[in-house]
Amino acid sequence: MGSTPVPIDIRQLDLDQITAALTNLGQPSFRARQIWQWLWEKGCRDFQEMTNLPLPLRDQLTAHFVIHGILPDKSQFSTDGTIKNRYLLHDGYKVESVLIPVPDEDRYTACVSCQVGCSLTCSFCATGQMKRVRNLDQGEIVDQVAMVNAQALERFGHPLTNIVFMGMGEPLLAYGPVMQSIERISAPDGLGFSPKRITLSTAGIAKMIRRLADDNPKVNLALSLHAADDAKRNSIMPINEQNNLEALMDALDYFYQVTRNRITYEYIAFDGFNDSIEDARNLARLTHRFPVRINIIEYNPVEGVDMVKSPIDRLDAFAAELTRLGATVTVRRSRGKDIDAACGQLANKD
Ligand code: SF4
Repeated sequence: MGSTPVPIDIRQLDLDQITAALTNLGQPSFRARQIWQWLWEKGCRDFQEMTNLPLPLRDQLTAHFVIHGILPDKSQFSTDGTIKNRYLLHDGYKVESVLIPVPDEDRYTACVSCQVGCSLTCSFCATGQMKRVRNLDQGEIVDQVAMVNAQALERFGHPLTNIVFMGMGEPLLAYGPVMQSIERISAPDGLGFSPKRITLSTAGIAKMIRRLADDNPKVNLALSLHAADDAKRNSIMPINEQNNLEALMDALDYFYQVTRNRITYEYIAFDGFNDSIEDARNLARLTHRFPVRINIIEYNPVEGVDMVKSPIDRLDAFAAELTRLGATVTVRRSRGKDIDAACGQLANKD
């Protein structure tokens, strides 16, 4: 007895593959473009709603394919306007995305996830305490963007202005789906969003930074730096042991020389760990090879982690020293803390 074939998720196919599949079904190839538009421009999740396709074709598609969309599961609303969304995936796992509205600056940012859990174990991060289950696929990433964009329009009357891959997971370890999703998010026959407004945030994998430079999807890059010497960085980010600061700086230099795209260092200030004047001087030394902006971020407490955020006066002195040494610095007060939606806090908690 033959087993029933598992239907294929049609969003895993490219346009040529959909065209070939239609030929096998005895359908004209021009239908592929129509299906493509439904899937990626209009975000359609049901073949029966593809109203410019003949009914028999819609039925054939329903019989042979599925569309693994994500479903809203839960939203939490911060007093500062930040909204944390949890989504249910087709196989029962859950991921989170955050909408961060800053109306005064006309900035509406979606922070999206690219993996269920994370294989890296940064000691300050809630996601790092979950083990990595799987990568998201391109459709699941695009869906997060489309849904958060719809939420921004509905609640604030404004579309997204920025997208950051800074949610759950390490984007350079989910490289294939992340690149495919960026292509679909930015393509004119996708969501049509400028790649210049997309930022990938990495914990730092030197060879993948070089690969990103070579592929150059025109996005910005953020390095979660958090310590400016190897011993300290090893102690909070084990990935640094195989990707030390020298290797990372070489890779970032290469990225900048090849792409000229913007590079940012994310630097969470921890009380008594990385917030001294000497730390600021070490950090400033890492800013001379190529232009970089430093975002100093307030730490958000994570259950089971005994690190504490820097007091404001220490954080200000740290930033002032960096500025004095010529660095471009922004101090970012964390947003969405009351709903565990801030940097490093995403962990599918109820
Ligand atoms: S900070 Fe990023 S890379 Fe590190 S464990 Fe958390 S999600 Fe993974």
